[in-house]
This record gives sequence, C-alpha cells and structure tokens, in this order.
Amino acid sequence: MPDFPQCISFDVGGTLIEPWPSVGAVYADAARAVGIPMEDAVLNQRFAAAWVDARKQPGGFDYSRSAWKELVRSTFGDALPQALTNDVFESIWHRFERPDVWKVHPDVLPSLELLRSRPVRLTVLSNWDERLRPLLHRLGLADFFEDIVVSGEVGRHKPDPALFEHAACRWAVDARSILHVGDSDREDLHGPMAAGWQAILIDRTGSKRTNSILKLDELIRMIG
Ligand SMILES: [Mg+2]
Repeated sequence: MPDFPQCISFDVGGTLIEPWPSVGAVYADAARAVGIPMEDAVLNQRFAAAWVDARKQPGGFDYSRSAWKELVRSTFGDALPQALTNDVFESIWHRFERPDVWKVHPDVLPSLELLRSRPVRLTVLSNWDERLRPLLHRLGLADFFEDIVVSGEVGRHKPDPALFEHAACRWAVDARSILHVGDSDREDLHGPMAAGWQAILIDRTGSKRTNSILKLDELIRMIG
C-alpha cells in the first residue's frame, strides 16, 4: 500500500450482504404466487445466465427499474406468460427492498465496529438503485457510513472511472487516499485502480487471489 488510506469505500453486494436464501428462491416465490411452480436452482442458473447477457449489452446494465424488469423477463423466458410479467416483476422488486431476503456476512458488523473507532472515514460505493439506501438502513448498516454513493443515482456504474471521480470529489479526498474493497475484479479492483485509488478484493472462499483478503477485519492492519 503506498499510503495509509483516509477513507475506505465499500462495495455492497457480495461484500457486505448476499441475497438470502438465494436470488432463485425469491424469484421462485414470486412465480409460485401466480401459479407457476419453478425450482430455485433452475432460476438461480437462469438468472446467472441472464445477468451475464444483460451486462454484455451495449451500454451494459444500467441498474434502472426497466433494466431489472428486462432481467426478470429474460430469467423466466417462456415459463412466464407476458400478461404476468408485470406482477411478478413488481413482487420481486419489492421483495429485494426487504431485509429478510439479505444476509449480512458475519464478519461485517464486528469489522465495521472496529473500523468506526479508528481514524478512517467509511463510505459506500455500489452499483445499485434507489432501493439501496433504505435497505442499508433496514439492515442496520447505513449509520456506519458517512456517505452512500449509488451508481443508479449518479448515472455511472463501476468500473466507469467517472463514478470513482464523482465519489472522490464528493468525499473531498485525494484518489490515492481511498481504499476500495469489493468482490469483483472488474468493478472493485481494476476500476478503482484505474482511477488512482487503492483497492483490495474480499474473497471469503480463501482462494488466495492476489490483492485479496479473507475477512473484512483484515482491513484494520491496512489503515495504520
Ligand atoms: Mg459486489
């Protein structure tokens, strides 16, 4: 690390929280409610494929309500009649606003408690939409952070350097003094590094990737 960071910026999905018990389970619940029984595992696979496809589209995924609706449509494909798409989408959209379909990783609260007592600013920089801020409040996480930057509100998404520049400017911190932590190579390592930030991956699988930590409490030793 070139300098001790003045600010730690956190990704959210995969870093602080995960869908619980799974995206497929939430989709399957919504489908069952309109009389379409589908397996969680099948929907998990279909969602994963639709997610990869959506991000390959020109312009990528823009985290808008219409983009999420299209993702729901392509996840279900022919299994969901067009007349029911709206109801199922609305149900899924609102489900993911609720804290009970998210799991906070067990290392998150103890690490944030420790970090909050240190001379470092804590922020969030996430590819998400208008549901993120209220969700983090409901999960009891929002108060740890002095600011939450939501890509959908800015209109730029990681790894776009413009989003990192926007955040650094908003926090009035020199890029080199920010350490970003997240779970995606592209969005949370290469993106911030290209913008001159420090960056580290969280990889709880223990696969010992370079530039990675296993648990968030390892951040303590990086802030001096
Ligand atoms: Mg993530």
